[in-house]
Amino acid sequence: MISSQEAEAKILQLVSALDREIDVETVDLTAAPGRILATDVTSSLDFPHWDNSAMDGYAVRYADVQSCPVTLDIIEEIPAGVQPQKRVEMAQAARIFTGAILPEGADTIVMQEQTRREENRVTILQAPQCQEFVRHRASFYQAGETLLEAGIAIAAPEIAVLAAAQCTQLTVYRRPRVAILSTGDELVSPEKTLQPGQIVDSNQYALAAFVAQNGGIPLQLGIVRDRPDELKDAIANAIASADFVLSTGGVSVGDYDYIDRILQELGGAIHIQSVAIKPGKPLTVATFARKDKSCLYFGIPGNPVSALVTAWRFVLPALKKLSGLATNWSPELIKVRTQFELKGAMQRETYLWGKVQLIDGYYRFVVAGGSHSSSNLINLAQTNALAIVPLGVKQIAAGTEIWAMRV
Ligand code: AMP
Ligand code: MG
Repeated sequence: MISSQEAEAKILQLVSALDREIDVETVDLTAAPGRILATDVTSSLDFPHWDNSAMDGYAVRYADVQSCPVTLDIIEEIPAGVQPQKRVEMAQAARIFTGAILPEGADTIVMQEQTRREENRVTILQAPQCQEFVRHRASFYQAGETLLEAGIAIAAPEIAVLAAAQCTQLTVYRRPRVAILSTGDELVSPEKTLQPGQIVDSNQYALAAFVAQNGGIPLQLGIVRDRPDELKDAIANAIASADFVLSTGGVSVGDYDYIDRILQELGGAIHIQSVAIKPGKPLTVATFARKDKSCLYFGIPGNPVSALVTAWRFVLPALKKLSGLATNWSPELIKVRTQFELKGAMQRETYLWGKVQLIDGYYRFVVAGGSHSSSNLINLAQTNALAIVPLGVKQIAAGTEIWAMRV
């Protein structure tokens, strides 16, 4: 049994990122949120595009307003989006609004609160600073520089930048393809009437949601019975069609747990067989060499909580590395106070599901009420963190500071 940190490090070694040349596609800006940029983006526009006003006020020549009050003639009005028509000469001003182009001759904006208007004349009450409230062309960004770098995730802020730079088509990494297989004779899909002994294949749906939420394409390959020949065909098919395969069930020590044997028969190299965590101990990780890119196989234990904890703790770092993200991703660990006493499994690092909440000014971990059996998925809903009870720790008192992993 290896530790969770060793398992994570080993898994990351087995993954290489998507290829920046081959594994890319072009998407519209509107389809880009959640994708990873695959090329550097530059713009031929300066930001701001022209000298413009940061205030509603008057565009003036600083030379005219150094001693105030002083009264100037208003020569024109320049709303945003309009090209100025006149040059501001000595003792003149132009009425101007936020974002409007600074007229020639003017070098300074006086905010309207510092002025008094009388028909076509304006009195400047207080001397501004030279060039005050002028947003100079290219002061934010100069055309031709790198605007956004390859390897960043695209979300609302990046979309704002890309839209402003008129980048309507983007080269992004393709989404990782993740095959999902459920194994077990007891499993049925959710629309079926349950016969005695049957349960719904919830893992198929939970893992598909997990993959989709994290930028991958889930390939839902369905349920495979605990028959070695059927499993072998299904697994071979999964390996051929995806970057990662997530199978659940069949990795324990029961008589029907065939996965590891089949992976070996199919030529897989097994790197991990169990990890000292609870839930999720019997985790199998294998690789399959292929002509193009090797396939990473996760044989995940069947219990629904084990399946999700394993996905969050081990599949997610691998998926992030595969995705093309330039900066190393690691699970988000935060220090929180536990609101209730927590129990650990001593020989295994224990992950307890629950919620991090701001209570009385502190981030606190509120463990989910009810059973923490790995087969109990009923209290999983609204989980946003897993509290971690370290190896060798039996009990953590309420109020103690602990690490929790955001999920
Ligand atoms: P296994 O790892 O195959 O021994 O399965 C462990 C437990 O998880 C058993 O009680 C299974 O019924 C349950 N289980 C296995 N696969 C699934 C699944 N796809 N969805 C929900 N529960 C499952
Ligand atoms: Mg099973």
